[in-house]
Amino acid sequence: DHEISEYRKTLAIRVSGFDIPKPIKLFEDCGFPSPLMGAIAKQAYEKPTTIQCQALPIVLSGRDIIGIAKTGSGKTAAFVLPMIVHIMDQPEVDKGQGPIGVICAPTRELAHQIYLEAKKFSKPYGLRVAAVYGGVSKLDQFRELKAGCEIVVATPGRLIDLLKMKALTMTRATYLVLDEADRMFDLGFEPQIRSIVGQIRPDRQTLLFSATMPYKVERLAREILSDPLRVTVGEVG
Ligand code: ADP
Ligand code: MG
Repeated sequence: DHEISEYRKTLAIRVSGFDIPKPIKLFEDCGFPSPLMGAIAKQAYEKPTTIQCQALPIVLSGRDIIGIAKTGSGKTAAFVLPMIVHIMDQPEVDKGQGPIGVICAPTRELAHQIYLEAKKFSKPYGLRVAAVYGGVSKLDQFRELKAGCEIVVATPGRLIDLLKMKALTMTRATYLVLDEADRMFDLGFEPQIRSIVGQIRPDRQTLLFSATMPYKVERLAREILSDPLRVTVGEVG
């Protein structure tokens, strides 16, 4: 225990909550299946970043998480890698149409970056990733979603539009990520986020990442996460 807390100190990580999984030192410590390890090796990611060291074992254990870390700290892989494991663990992943993993991000640029990362890591499994955001054809996105996907990366407004059009259902969704939650609130997406969350079954796993935790984000986190662990990296938050 002392050794673990010393290791967290070296990483400059603070964690709060009960039954905190031990931080990992290497990707090999995650127990990832070999196709996923292969995809990580292809990225030339030598070892996990600070947030990944603590967030990966937490998320892989199935717990909800609040991750607070500044931009550039490697948060995307911290939620994408466990998402692939989560999806591959579903008994009937090859049947059904709606997404299992749902990721919300504030802007189309961010959604696109996450989409690319999700594509890379899901490639060995042939998972279908849909990117859903404004500024591009809604009809094309409608058709893509109708054809089915396992992962959707979306800005909240466009996702709501497509849900209203019945382009997809959330019945299969069990893994929800709210990325850059503070920026989504700054952009006025709180009602859309609440509506999306309300359409996903309560026994989902929920992950919330943010650079800062203003009161409104804190309040939402309290409402929609179950017994989350909070990981703060460095001096942010
Ligand atoms: P954040 O979401 O925290 O701003 P990103 O997930 O966008 O950060 O990652 C920032 C950069 O670091 C990206 O270029 C990503 O490919 C890279 N990266 C992520 N994890 C690792 C790692 N373990 N080793 C090396 N580079 C990494
Ligand atoms: Mg990010």
